Amino acid sequence: MSPKPGFSITTVEEGVSLIEENHVASWLRCNIWHIKGKDRDLLIDSGMGLIPIKPTIATLSENNITAVSTHAHFDHMGGAHEFDCHLAHPADKDIYLNPTAGNTLAKDFVTAESITIPPHDDFHIEEYAVKPAPLTGYLDEGDVIDLGNRVFQVFHLPGHAPGAISLYEQRTKTLFSGDVIYQGGLIDNAYHSNLEEYEASLRRLRELPVDTVHGGHEASFGRTRMIEIIDNFLAGGQRYQSKQA
Ligand SMILES: [Zn+2]
Repeated sequence: MSPKPGFSITTVEEGVSLIEENHVASWLRCNIWHIKGKDRDLLIDSGMGLIPIKPTIATLSENNITAVSTHAHFDHMGGAHEFDCHLAHPADKDIYLNPTAGNTLAKDFVTAESITIPPHDDFHIEEYAVKPAPLTGYLDEGDVIDLGNRVFQVFHLPGHAPGAISLYEQRTKTLFSGDVIYQGGLIDNAYHSNLEEYEASLRRLRELPVDTVHGGHEASFGRTRMIEIIDNFLAGGQRYQSKQA
């Protein structure tokens, strides 16, 4: 059976689901994380926005949603406009307000080949555009998102993007890292990337008591792998090479 347009949902652990966009090529596909809370739910990133994501979230929970974007790239913020509460770091606020193919990196990555299943009949890649998703509030270093029974701390870890944040749950020592770190070539050369800041962010991450990383792309991993990726990067490796890498 070939996959249909829409989303796949995998329960990763109690209350944590990974939502994936079936229509996006795996090398480009963003990990969308849903965390069910007692009072509210947390959505970390929202994919490319090719089709609405809210109906899929509604199958998981009826709670109100705090939608967080880890940074303002097209593959992470495309569905953010659907949510009444959209939080992210203020450094990227103008991109959320006025996203373009250039400032969200869509121009550099989105090709006909990156969409493996058309989201609807007669879909043309030229019609893809990220919808504006103005922030309804800011998240910065030290802020806390409280779901009633689960608490997430905000780390500002710039470098890949100026407003890159990760969310950390101390109780489970779990980091939702966005594109700061994942198992693949890390992008340090986008128009607003900053290598020095990126290295400082990863050095900082290396010292944090993280046991599990749920990244913005690719499979989750543990502390040993996290240290390995950071050390590779700081030694000049682990860099993004090409779109098909
Ligand atoms: Zn990114």
